[in-house]
Amino acid sequence: TIGMVAMDAEGNLSGACTTSGMAFKLHGRVGDSPIIGAGLYVDNEIGAATSTGVGEEVIKIVGSHLVVELMRQGYPPEKACKEAVERIVKRSPSKAKEIQVGFLALNKKGQYGAYCLQKGFSYAVLSKDVNNTLIDGKHYF
Ligand code: ASP
Repeated sequence: TIGMVAMDAEGNLSGACTTSGMAFKLHGRVGDSPIIGAGLYVDNEIGAATSTGVGEEVIKIVGSHLVVELMRQGYPPEKACKEAVERIVKRSPSKAKEIQVGFLALNKKGQYGAYCLQKGFSYAVLSKDVNNTLIDGKHYF
């Protein structure tokens, strides 16, 4: 999945995601990406979140909605993403190492973060600095 969360110059939040689904998926399978609340969720009052990885696991905890709700409770984005991943792991601890799931989040203050159990998960950030100059960077988790 490629998920994007954004904030415009007025502070409005938005998000989008796209996926090819899982390899060897069953015909007719619906992953998390097209389900609002699972693969993507935006609440313009609070924040935006998106997920990547095993959609079935994300759907079971309504993952992106959970991340936004945790941010509503005051969790910073990365901590909210981590809590969502840990909730998935808690459901099936024996599969913890195989479950590939990651979340990316942005809150209303413009703070962002991500979490994934596996190494190599990366995300890119594009923003303006105090001089209104475009800056970007790639973050590895
Ligand atoms: N989340 C997608 C799905 O389960 C897979 C992906 O990360 O692309 O369909």
